[in-house]
Amino acid sequence: MPDSPGPAPVRAGGGTRRPVRIRRVVTTRAGGRSGGPFTSFNLSLGVGDDPAAVAGNRARVVRELGLSGLAFLRQVHGRDVAVLREAPRARSGTGGVAPDVADVDAVVTDVPLLGVAVLAADCVPVLLGDPVAGVVGAAHAGRVGAAAGVLDAVVAEMTALGAEPGRLEALLGPAVCGRCYEVPPAMRAEVDAALPGSASTTRTGTAGLDLRAGLTRRLAALGVSRVGTDPRCTIEDPDLFSHRRDGRCGRQAAVTWLDPR
Ligand SMILES: [Zn+2]
Repeated sequence: MPDSPGPAPVRAGGGTRRPVRIRRVVTTRAGGRSGGPFTSFNLSLGVGDDPAAVAGNRARVVRELGLSGLAFLRQVHGRDVAVLREAPRARSGTGGVAPDVADVDAVVTDVPLLGVAVLAADCVPVLLGDPVAGVVGAAHAGRVGAAAGVLDAVVAEMTALGAEPGRLEALLGPAVCGRCYEVPPAMRAEVDAALPGSASTTRTGTAGLDLRAGLTRRLAALGVSRVGTDPRCTIEDPDLFSHRRDGRCGRQAAVTWLDPR
């Protein structure tokens, strides 16, 4: 799990805040306990994998990143956002797996060392952080959620916690690329109307979607200009899970957290 390059430490001018660093990691298929189509580092409880294997994989993320806790979401392709002030805790009889935060596609927190994660296998994981305010967020932006405005919603929740769009650093993670993501022409038109800039043409010349292009344009409209993109395409990169390529498969995670050390 190589650490993605993040911003340098920032100290808030004159305040009492301690310097904080925004950390970000995107997992791959390698290094986990899952077998079969989930080989091997599947982090989703919602795809039919053995929950004990997923629990082991999630525990490895927490351990290796030195987190106090890690929140995953039960994602529903919507635009609702959870604000977390503590890590979800495992209930008895669940094998030590904390429940996913239900039915949201984005999460924000201002608690140091509390990791927030989104899962994806072609959809765009978006990680956001304001190192001065000490606020991080993660959003799952697939075709439906991106068009529904999940990005606007997560930026609004971060702003409510003191973040400023002009200070936000964004990372768009691995996703299906605009050369691979073929859709019917009417769908391309519909999504491009809701998320301008997302229309693309595939390598075979058919209608396609480049959600990361549309999301980048939307971030700019929201005042977020510092946007990095992990250019990997989930369909083209065998080290990543891709639902469009493989059908039944696992999910990788994009994780961000505040590191006060
Ligand atoms: Zn591609």
